[in-house]
Amino acid sequence: MAAMMIRVSPPGAGSAPLPADATRLDAPASRGRGVGRAPSAPRAGHGLDGLDVVEVERAERLAAMRSGELGSVHSWELVTAVDGPGTRLTTFLSGCPLRCLYCHNPDTFAMKDGTPVTAEELLSRMRRYLGVFQATGGGITLSGGEVLMQPAFAARILHGAHELGIHTAIDTSGYLGANASDDLLDDVDLVLLDVKAGDEETYARTTSRELQPTLDFGRRLAARGLTGHGPEVWIRFVLVPGLTDAWENVERIAEYASSLNGIRPGTVTRVEVLPFHQMGRSKWEAIGRDYELDGTAAPSVELTERVRVQFRAHGLTTY
Ligand code: SF4
Repeated sequence: MAAMMIRVSPPGAGSAPLPADATRLDAPASRGRGVGRAPSAPRAGHGLDGLDVVEVERAERLAAMRSGELGSVHSWELVTAVDGPGTRLTTFLSGCPLRCLYCHNPDTFAMKDGTPVTAEELLSRMRRYLGVFQATGGGITLSGGEVLMQPAFAARILHGAHELGIHTAIDTSGYLGANASDDLLDDVDLVLLDVKAGDEETYARTTSRELQPTLDFGRRLAARGLTGHGPEVWIRFVLVPGLTDAWENVERIAEYASSLNGIRPGTVTRVEVLPFHQMGRSKWEAIGRDYELDGTAAPSVELTERVRVQFRAHGLTTY
């Protein structure tokens, strides 16, 4: 079937002509902070403001996504001191294989619900912030959803950013770590590895998936460091009372993080303990899904500190 262009960019909406199927990123997804991956910093979730959308026939769109020319994007924003060092342009990709009970962006679950954006367009946006990145020691972060649901698109963005001299980070659960080629990882300076739980049972209850792929991915990153190609790793852990706060569960994560430094010293440079909160609840309601943590309170200061102390006892710099 021939490609069918339904709508094109309106005049004056942007500076450069777009390929068919593109979305133009003209304004940040300025919002309260609210994505699923980091409950202490809930971000995104309000779409892509000021965009020109062009639709193409489905088969063509899928082919462009497979090649990485086109991605499915939920939103983006500029942040400081979140998602990596300095000021960062964080892009939230659509699609995630996990179903974390505390997710703040359940509207990123399905890749089909995202907005098509070309790699070229996103890189053009990043180029405009070069001065900001240089002045603040920042860069770009690909988050989600799950960035490794779209490895070809991610690889193009990361490589293009590196060619511009931009520091790159990915925020991932590691569940799809096998999707990350060595070439893709060569273009990653920092991995924010979200370890949802340390024991299998808690991991499954929290995410509906298995823990092992995450563990394997972290070990692969550490081993790459031995060859001089390993990214820095920050471990992120969401602390949810009654779900992830058990001493043993935390201990398993701390041991794991420490073991990565055993493979290659200096792999894990930071652990972030992110206190759960309820700011994502309304999104679950909005998409008509049951929200199981409705009655769960945020962790107390004492509990959060207990968990941070646990990590520090393993020699990990913890915030
Ligand atoms: S991994 Fe997926 S389900 Fe879990 S918090 Fe992140 S976006 Fe939500």
